[in-house]
Amino acid sequence: MRTADARLAGGRGGQAAAAGPGLPGPGTTSPVSGAPAPECSSQHGPLARRLTVLSGPSGVGKSTVVAEIRRSHPRVWLSVSVTTRAPRPGETDGVQYFFVDDAGFDRLVDGGELLEWAEFAGNRYGTPRRPVEERLSRGEPVLLEIDLQGARQVRRSMTEALLVFLAPPSWAELVRRLTGRGTEAPEVIERRLEAARVELAAEKEFDVTLVNTSVRDVCDELLALMAVQ
Ligand code: 5GP
Repeated sequence: MRTADARLAGGRGGQAAAAGPGLPGPGTTSPVSGAPAPECSSQHGPLARRLTVLSGPSGVGKSTVVAEIRRSHPRVWLSVSVTTRAPRPGETDGVQYFFVDDAGFDRLVDGGELLEWAEFAGNRYGTPRRPVEERLSRGEPVLLEIDLQGARQVRRSMTEALLVFLAPPSWAELVRRLTGRGTEAPEVIERRLEAARVELAAEKEFDVTLVNTSVRDVCDELLALMAVQ
């Protein structure tokens, strides 16, 4: 049986920025001398270092991983995004998402209240800024589950954030998961598959890749990367 497999990326200009469990995390060792690097050198100080972004193609299982971490490690704070997408069966406002209409989303954008936001498959999604900043200022581990465009925005604005790419075991498996969900219309699935092709090609922009062969293993790898016991 295959297990979750952490691939170390040579992103960020080719430096070995990523680490698996037991290895030093990004920013803890100088890529040049191997000596301990300052805890955090960006304008965001050590705070943003606690920010982890989980991204990857739609259907790869990000939300299942996040739900498992919510259940098993409530001390990890999970951002609840705002979206204009309609709730799926079983989704509750304020739990999986805050569901808003277009005008409500516009107000959040105009008021600068979103840390990042993106349009994905015809709907908009964004991360409320204030709760993230509050948690980070308290030194709490924060996890965002967002799409590629959002991950790129976080990379630009919070350079010490750890960007984790969740990859499917294979393309066929991703197609199976996306089509098998049974909650989306065929044209929506097609848009998501198209987006997935683009997102898969962006894997090299991330610090580390976890292959989703087992939800439990991915959670363990992710928690180790976040240094959460
Ligand atoms: P879904 O509609 O399947 O819940 O989510 C669609 C995509 O939107 C997923 O790739 C998910 O990671 C992404 N997403 C969810 N919340 C956010 C967010 O706050 N910002 C961004 N940029 N993407 C998000």
